[in-house]
Amino acid sequence: MKITAIKTSLMKVPNEQPVASYYSHVTYVVARIQTDAGIEGLGYTMLMGGMGAESVLAYLEHNLVPLMIGENPLQVGRLWNKMYDNDRGLRKKGIPVYAISAIDIGLWDILGKSMDRPLHQIFGQHVDKVPVYGSGGFLSYSVDQVVKEAQGFFEKGVRHYKFKIGRPDHMLDVKKVRDVRKALGDKVEILVDANQRWDVATNVRVGRALDDCNLFWYEEPVYADNIAQCAEVARQIPIPVATGENEYTRYGFRDLIEAKAAQYLNPDIHRAGGFTAMMEISHLAAAYDAKIAPHLVPELSVTVLASIPNGTLVEVLAGSPVGLWQDPVEIVAGHLLPPTRPGHGMAFSKDAVKKYTV
Ligand SMILES: [Mg+2]
Repeated sequence: MKITAIKTSLMKVPNEQPVASYYSHVTYVVARIQTDAGIEGLGYTMLMGGMGAESVLAYLEHNLVPLMIGENPLQVGRLWNKMYDNDRGLRKKGIPVYAISAIDIGLWDILGKSMDRPLHQIFGQHVDKVPVYGSGGFLSYSVDQVVKEAQGFFEKGVRHYKFKIGRPDHMLDVKKVRDVRKALGDKVEILVDANQRWDVATNVRVGRALDDCNLFWYEEPVYADNIAQCAEVARQIPIPVATGENEYTRYGFRDLIEAKAAQYLNPDIHRAGGFTAMMEISHLAAAYDAKIAPHLVPELSVTVLASIPNGTLVEVLAGSPVGLWQDPVEIVAGHLLPPTRPGHGMAFSKDAVKKYTV
């Protein structure tokens, strides 16, 4: 089989409320990989708020597409390395890896379609379904709004819920977490996410102050670039730390694991390097008994989680775009099921392509 063409495009998709008040839209950089066998692979990568999407598209078109034309798309591993090795001037963090991820996802889609199998079967399935955590609770939310959003998830059987902390007056957030715990009771696992907003000292004070709130994890305490500081927080607070949504490739996750920066790793399939990197990172983490809970992208993350021994939770964000997918993944009794269609099983709806392609 040979790659004959890769059609690239941008789709600018409006978010629903409440996400829309933070990020009005997401932008998908799309790479449709066409082959001489008539199989098309859907590759895509997503940028919250659209920041950097045009740069990812340019990198994809100028640096990656020419490397792929004429290649055998079934040799996914070799082609991942070809993309990675080609560029000796930009480190594989940020824009280059968003672009590599798009191609990798499209190549795996072709491989699955050519075998008429969903990818979780090809990767070596571990589980049939994956528990969801509901995610949202932005900083501006009142306690009542957080509790209401959490209850919306509980009605769908979801037992884990995450909301944001990280305001300048950290004591306000300590009180907020206490109030949310009181309102939700003990049947619910609560996760908090600081989104890199505090320094080590503040995180340590907050983490220790919340010791009696029985939190499931404490996410991204400090700047993602400062792994040593994340490890310092992890050493000093009694709550398990989660991080990794802003990390790239197996090398980035090796550094997080070696530094003991977190017990829960949150690779993002669009940032980490596609399915190839997600599987490498998951198996690397398994050797350290570190747990994987991918960042967003539930429709693809669920396939990864179904295929690894150390998966925990799949993230579903309140306010994600509606009508985007032909067959969206839906929460069933608190879980997502990996798509059973061949390949990764996802296709944008015709309507969405027409409405949102820029
Ligand atoms: Mg986060």
